Amino acid sequence: MEPFNTEPYLGIPCSQGIGIGRIFKIKDKKNTVPSEARSPEEEMLRIKKALAEYKKRTLKLAEKVDINLGKGDGDIIRSHIAIVEDVEMNELLYKFVNSGKSADQAVDNVCGIFANIFDSMEDEYMRQKSVDILDISTQVRSILAGEEYLICDVPEGTVLLGKNIQPSLVSSIENGNVVGIISEYGNETSHSAILAKALKIPMISGVSGIYDSCENDQKVIVNAIEGEVILDPDRETCKVYEKREEEYAKKVSELEKYFGKPTKTKDGATIKILCNISGPADIRKVIDNDGEGVGLLRTELLFMNSRFNPGEAEQFDAYKRVASAMNDKPVIIRTLDIGGDKEISYLELPQEDNPFLGFRAIRYTLKETEIFKIQLRSILRASAYGNVSILLPMITTLDELLQAKELIEECKDELRSEQVKFNENIRVGCMIETPSAAMISDILAGECDFFSIGTNDLIQYTMCADRGNSRVSYLYSSYQPSVIRLIERVAKAAKEAGIPVGICGEAASNEFLLPLLIALDFDEVSVNASSVLELRKNILGISKEESKAVTEKVLKMSSEDEIFNYLSAKS
Ligand code: PEP
Ligand code: MG
Repeated sequence: MEPFNTEPYLGIPCSQGIGIGRIFKIKDKKNTVPSEARSPEEEMLRIKKALAEYKKRTLKLAEKVDINLGKGDGDIIRSHIAIVEDVEMNELLYKFVNSGKSADQAVDNVCGIFANIFDSMEDEYMRQKSVDILDISTQVRSILAGEEYLICDVPEGTVLLGKNIQPSLVSSIENGNVVGIISEYGNETSHSAILAKALKIPMISGVSGIYDSCENDQKVIVNAIEGEVILDPDRETCKVYEKREEEYAKKVSELEKYFGKPTKTKDGATIKILCNISGPADIRKVIDNDGEGVGLLRTELLFMNSRFNPGEAEQFDAYKRVASAMNDKPVIIRTLDIGGDKEISYLELPQEDNPFLGFRAIRYTLKETEIFKIQLRSILRASAYGNVSILLPMITTLDELLQAKELIEECKDELRSEQVKFNENIRVGCMIETPSAAMISDILAGECDFFSIGTNDLIQYTMCADRGNSRVSYLYSSYQPSVIRLIERVAKAAKEAGIPVGICGEAASNEFLLPLLIALDFDEVSVNASSVLELRKNILGISKEESKAVTEKVLKMSSEDEIFNYLSAKS
């Protein structure tokens, strides 16, 4: 056992919060002794009965989760029923039993095969399905062995510790006795993590090697904010974390008041708060934080996580998953923005002296039209499943926008002739992240359906200050008069042309800049999901009238200092 004061174990915080309690080790149920095989008919009958019982219990559990956590969360557990109803899985079970295996062995082997298939997939979301399948295997084999379900009946102040905490276990947690969960395996996309979040129990996953180093009843702090597990904390440490726990709970409950509230200023001006995401794995964060849609889906991760160019099927699946999950809420998908600080090795882009000023984003995709068209076709196809728009990165000239639109039309023609569904009226927007685009925003506005201002790049290109270079970071600021004037120019051009304007750079969540965005009639901001509720709280607290007066003053100011001091004093 580790003595106290050693380095904490590190893992992935997947349900935020702090829990202090005593460890309860969940035994791995993998070792159920398989029974002797009887005739294949008898074994198949046993499987059928066990699966029927599994479905019954799972439905009951799902209903309980719906009641405890609100309609919808039970679907996580319900989705396991679809897995056991899978025809391929049932055929394989039948095959194994026919070859002389017992029902228990067949379930163990077949679930093992399916779990391995999912586990070897590139996509993190799909990989997590292997945990669900192993969970099903454990539960069905318990039924076959005549055992009860593992119901979480533990004393107050318990921290559950398991090698691989399974969703059925988390959903069986009944009372408030569990204050934390630690799992050696998994991450924030696992169903166990999603349920823990819904139950508001701090959870850390991916803490390798911890299970065998701990004993039941050992004191532990689960710091699921930074992702650390502190074993045998001394009294002082406990006090520090108790205080942090209190502060965190207070902050969360304060922000919860803003969940489901319309985003409106004191005098009724509305603005949408959308989220920046990198793929389907982030959908849950948007929903959990009450995001009003996706304002920027950065598609680079899909390419970076792959060893090869992701094909149309893979991209379509990812975009469709996001579009469907958001229902009618907007989903703005940005086409590939590689180059600069985003490298994809298999594309073998040549080294450049100035990558930020080089062959990147729209410049690349307009040359590599095959790659671009596969992506455009995937996005168009996904548009049949939700409220999808296309966003073009790093536009500097009207010609780039027109060329991209031509390729979009070409893809639409192809899909029409193949009789593939897509939204004929899909919106096409421009990222305004270069001073050139900002200066010609009146021209661009006539040829596109919306603007999204990317301040991360707009600031670096306006100030000629690399966004990652700390030596010039004193110049890299959204309070620079030049940056503010460009933002104003773009917003005005959008309003004059009658198209919506949004902002998706980091500046979008800066509360000091809110008066400007409100006064300039921004239609939406797109931010990290964790900022949604705080931002809504801030918007509810300001008025458009006051914001106009503030903005008028700011637009007359001549230095970054002056603007920053004024805006920070105002909020
Ligand atoms: C931006 O430049 O502001 C932006 C949102 O894009 P990225 O950070 O992906 O370059
Ligand atoms: Mg950018």
